[in-house]
Amino acid sequence: MECSICGKEIEKSKFYNAVLCSDECFKKNFWNEKVDYMDDERVVRIDGYHYFIEPENDTGAFRGYGGSFFKIKFFDGRIIETTNLWSQGKIPQEYRGILYDNAEFISPFEENGEERILFRAQIEETIQVQDILLFDGLQEQHNLGYCGN
Ligand SMILES: [Zn+2]
Repeated sequence: MECSICGKEIEKSKFYNAVLCSDECFKKNFWNEKVDYMDDERVVRIDGYHYFIEPENDTGAFRGYGGSFFKIKFFDGRIIETTNLWSQGKIPQEYRGILYDNAEFISPFEENGEERILFRAQIEETIQVQDILLFDGLQEQHNLGYCGN
């Protein structure tokens, strides 16, 4: 079989759900998928990070960012509020040209100076904590998809 990214001939895929030869090709495959659905209106890209808005009425055990509230303004003018925003992590440099920013976080409160800065700091803190969790989560996902040799 051939790696679906680089075409290298391999005996066995390192991953259950795709024919891929290496971690490098796994990463490319992951971001190529994001390019495939980059125009989906649930996709959010802010400051080089990639997010996805899952349904508000999702009854699953987990919510994005622990159910934190975000108000997002898309550059096309749409404004949405969500408590189920999921992060897919930092967009690699080589994908930034395609997966350019399409939105920004805005304060749910008055948008005057101090409050806005405070809100921004809160968001950044929330995101940093989540990205640490996300990193572990991705590693886990990665491990689950890995079948050895
Ligand atoms: Zn490959």
